[in-house]
Amino acid sequence: MFENLQDKLNKAIKTLKGQGRITEINVASTIKEVRRALTDADVNYKVAKDITDRIRDKAIDRKVLISVEPGQLFVKIVQEELTELMGGEAQSINIKGDPAVILIAGLQGSGKTTFSGKLASYLKKQGRNVLLVADDIYRPAAIDQLKVLGEQVGVEVYSEPENKNAVQIAQNAVSQARKSGKKVVIVDTAGRLAVDEAMMQEIEAVKRAINPTETLFVVDSMTGQDAVNTAKTFNDRLNFDGVVLTKLDGDARGGAALSIKTVVNKPIKFISTGEKMEALDVFYPDRMASRILG
Ligand code: GDP
Repeated sequence: MFENLQDKLNKAIKTLKGQGRITEINVASTIKEVRRALTDADVNYKVAKDITDRIRDKAIDRKVLISVEPGQLFVKIVQEELTELMGGEAQSINIKGDPAVILIAGLQGSGKTTFSGKLASYLKKQGRNVLLVADDIYRPAAIDQLKVLGEQVGVEVYSEPENKNAVQIAQNAVSQARKSGKKVVIVDTAGRLAVDEAMMQEIEAVKRAINPTETLFVVDSMTGQDAVNTAKTFNDRLNFDGVVLTKLDGDARGGAALSIKTVVNKPIKFISTGEKMEALDVFYPDRMASRILG
């Protein structure tokens, strides 16, 4: 995960760490290299510029040049700024409600169904009674896929294969959950290969009808800046509550993880790092920043 960025940032910072005496020129050139490492990682240029400007201001403020361990202090500042960039504090999902309803949105192939299964398993392990809902009226295979995952994690899956009304299916699922005492309903929706008006209208209608306690936008981190642009489009229409970044196990660059919070102003809440049901983590910006800095 993020190997390229980690490598480049470490190279940039190493020059400072090795110096006995650090000059303004060293700091300025390190900051420039940090900026380049970020843009090479597919971080949006403005985001990269803003964060490196802040790193420079903090380095001046905290008198890095005359500090006892300038290299360490500089790394600490970069770590703090990367943490802020990714949202600061970890943000949890809202699972209050009777039942709590979690709506899962995103493009086809982003990892929605896999994540729905993982989230169901994660919440079940916390002792919650969960219902998964297959709300994809276009691909029968999507229903089967969710059923397989549901079976694997021991969570019931609601579906209506004959019904072609996604709003109705979602509403029926929530009533059924209420009747049977389920505490959390996870609604996995249909995605298309690209942002599409019909898909947007459908998911907006589902959202209005079931009034979810939490709407999560799932996106493939390997798509870099496209992930950020798609997030913006979905957020403009859905005003979602949080982002789930998937396929981080294959993402050597990290651009989406670093830019998404600034661009849509919504926190990353979970990260997915593999196909297995256990490969799900709550997103902690500070831990991710430490990881990026190696
Ligand atoms: P959906 O169309 O949005 O529901 O996407 P799926 O959940 O079907 O996922 C698409 C493909 O990506 C499947 O082959 C998944 O096994 C795979 N996948 C999902 N999440 C991850 C992940 O975090 N890492 C990796 N390596 N593969 C993933």
